[in-house]
Amino acid sequence: MPRSAEPREAEDSEPRKPEPAPKRKLPLRRRIDVAKRARDRGESYETPGGKWMPQREQRPPCTDGCRLKCSQRLSSKDRLEIFQTFWSIADHAAQWNFIARNMRVTPKEKCTTVRGESRRSFTRTYYFQPRTNREQVCKTMFLNTLGISNAWVATVCKKLTLNGFVSDDGRGKIGHRRKKLVELV
Ligand SMILES: [Zn+2]
Repeated sequence: MPRSAEPREAEDSEPRKPEPAPKRKLPLRRRIDVAKRARDRGESYETPGGKWMPQREQRPPCTDGCRLKCSQRLSSKDRLEIFQTFWSIADHAAQWNFIARNMRVTPKEKCTTVRGESRRSFTRTYYFQPRTNREQVCKTMFLNTLGISNAWVATVCKKLTLNGFVSDDGRGKIGHRRKKLVELV
């Protein structure tokens, strides 16, 4: 006897899966906190505005045409370790400090434009220390290895040139945090 093609029968014989609980929206403060912690770990998260941000991923190294030949001094294993170290810090201010420790900001000797003082009056030099030696790398290698945008180094650079150090900025202030989340998108 052929089995009934009626799907209802098969469905009824299976134990019913429990209905997923309706997703309750967490309070804003809690959502910001959850998002911030996931963001700091490099994991995917939902912004308080409801936008999903993907998890951090390492981007490819600089090309063979790089004048610093970064790839010859930094293996893919080195790069992965640096990436993992950076994201395991899981604290935004400490990540800024990691960048600050691996970056040198020096004033340019001569920097004038037709309109006077240039806004780009500092030179940034980037380093990684995969083993005992500190290796200078190009900006592409630096950003791509950490999987971060230029905004991160711009922020650190600003803090370094203004204060001479990277400070913990306004943590715990909800309005501030929210702004930061948007900035880092
Ligand atoms: Zn390079």
